[in-house]
Amino acid sequence: QARTIAFIGLGIMGLPMAVNLAAAGHRVTGYDLSPQSAEKLAANGGRAAATIAEAVDGADTVITMVPDSPDVEAVLLGPDGVFANAAPGALVIDMSTIRPDVSRAVAAEGERQGFRVLDAPVSGGEAGAIEAKLSIMVGGDAEVFAAAEPVFGVLGTTPVHVGPSGAGQTVKAANQLIVAGNIQLVAEALVFLEAHEVDTEAGLKVLNGGLAGSTVLTRKGDAMRARDFEPGFRIALHDKDMKIVTTAAREAGVAIPLGALVAQFVGALKAQGHGGLDHSALLKIVLELSAT
Ligand code: NAD
Repeated sequence: QARTIAFIGLGIMGLPMAVNLAAAGHRVTGYDLSPQSAEKLAANGGRAAATIAEAVDGADTVITMVPDSPDVEAVLLGPDGVFANAAPGALVIDMSTIRPDVSRAVAAEGERQGFRVLDAPVSGGEAGAIEAKLSIMVGGDAEVFAAAEPVFGVLGTTPVHVGPSGAGQTVKAANQLIVAGNIQLVAEALVFLEAHEVDTEAGLKVLNGGLAGSTVLTRKGDAMRARDFEPGFRIALHDKDMKIVTTAAREAGVAIPLGALVAQFVGALKAQGHGGLDHSALLKIVLELSAT
């Protein structure tokens, strides 16, 4: 059944997701701080709105895909935002990666105002967004998840209800911990192989067929060999996520020593001015620390 969807935040992830929803037959109106991004949606099956109020007008479903916690607060809670302008009862799905506590707080406020709210961060990267193969980790009420499932089915292959409000963000924090550590070790292995003058194309291929294989190796191995750090997923965003997971781990009394170390490396890259590079640029840190 066709829905009327407002899509707020049309960046690397949001634009292809919105385009996929339009291609599936939904009426999709997009808004982004950058009008050019909304125009790209308009050129690909959707419509462009000049304000959030215009985007959510008549929408039964609102999806947000913006960078960070303050952006979600601004988009949902602000005077010109979603809750102030959308029809009460609308399904509001935040698919950004943000702090679990902020996610719970905005959901509580939305529910107080009569909206049905889910946190539904994703994994799978730009390729997963374009190919509609995202893994979607959803927090909120089970009935609301059921109501949103057809939308998730258009965007990804693995929508899973993981618990109450905020639980999706907690699972996503764990995801970011694993991905950062995986990239770091792939980078170390690659620099190690290069230093030993091994054919790294052959080396990575056979590694990927065994227990060392990973989506990181499949997606990023060749780009890392070529030192191509075009994003993808920007270091600045992964820095945000490592702060989320280190804080949430400390709050729960959980030690994440390796994750905390990689968080330092991600933070150092950002401080060096590399926030706009792909997170596979962790390889630069390995090179700097090595004799190569
Ligand atoms: P991006 O920077 O490419 O896109 C974000 C978009 O949001 C931009 O177009 C920006 O103009 C817009 N925006 C910011 N504030 C806004 C506001 N107040 N109102 C309207 N639009 C606003 O980022 P991205 O890579 O698409 O990531 C978006 C979210 O998805 C982040 O939370 C990120 O952590 C998460 N994520 C990214 C990836 C990835 O591989 N890129 C993968 C999974 C999850």
